[in-house]
Amino acid sequence: MINVYVIGAGIVGVSCALNLLEKGFKVTLIDKENSVKETSFGNAGVITRSSAYLINNKNLIPNLKKYIFNKNPAVKLNHLYLIKNINWSSQFLYQSLEKNQKETLAILIQLFECH
Ligand SMILES: Cc1cc2nc3c(=O)[nH]c(=O)nc-3n(C[C@H](O)[C@H](O)[C@H](O)COP(=O)(O)OP(=O)(O)OC[C@H]3O[C@@H](n4cnc5c(N)ncnc54)[C@H](O)[C@@H]3O)c2cc1C
Repeated sequence: MINVYVIGAGIVGVSCALNLLEKGFKVTLIDKENSVKETSFGNAGVITRSSAYLINNKNLIPNLKKYIFNKNPAVKLNHLYLIKNINWSSQFLYQSLEKNQKETLAILIQLFECH
C-alpha cells in the first residue's frame, strides 16, 4: 500500500488526508506543532457562498503593471517564484479572462455545497 505524507494538519491537510484515506491510501499527517494552533484553530466557522471570490478576476490583467512592479499594497509578488512556476502563472492569468470566470466560479461554488 502506498503511504502518503501530508504536511500540515490544518483544515486543508486534514481534508486531504481524509480524502486519501477514503481512496485507500495509508496516510501520515505531519505538523510542526503538537496540536493544531494555526489558522484553522481560530476561524469563525462560516461556510458560505459569499466566500466564493475569484482573486484572479477580470481586473487582474488591467492592473498587472502595478502588481508586477509591486506598486499595489494588496499584492507582493515574488518574481522568481512566478518564473519558476511559469505554467501555473500563465494558467492563473488565463483563467482571469472574463470568458473563463463563469466556469471557474461554478467549480469554486461546488466546494461550498459538498460539505
Ligand atoms: C480570523 C479568521 C477567521 C476566519 N473565518 C473563516 C470562516 O468563517 N470561514 C472560512 O471558510 N474560513 C475562515 N477563515 C479562513 C480559514 O480559517 C483558513 O483559510 C483555513 O483555516 C486555512 O487552513 P489551512 O489548513 O490552509 O492552514 P492552517 O490551519 O494554518 O494549517 C496549516 C498547518 O500547517 C502547519 N505547518 C506549517 N508549516 C509547516 C511545516 N514546515 N512543517 C509541518 N507543518 C507545518 C501549521 O502548524 C498548521 O497546523 C478565517 C481565517 C481567519 C484568520
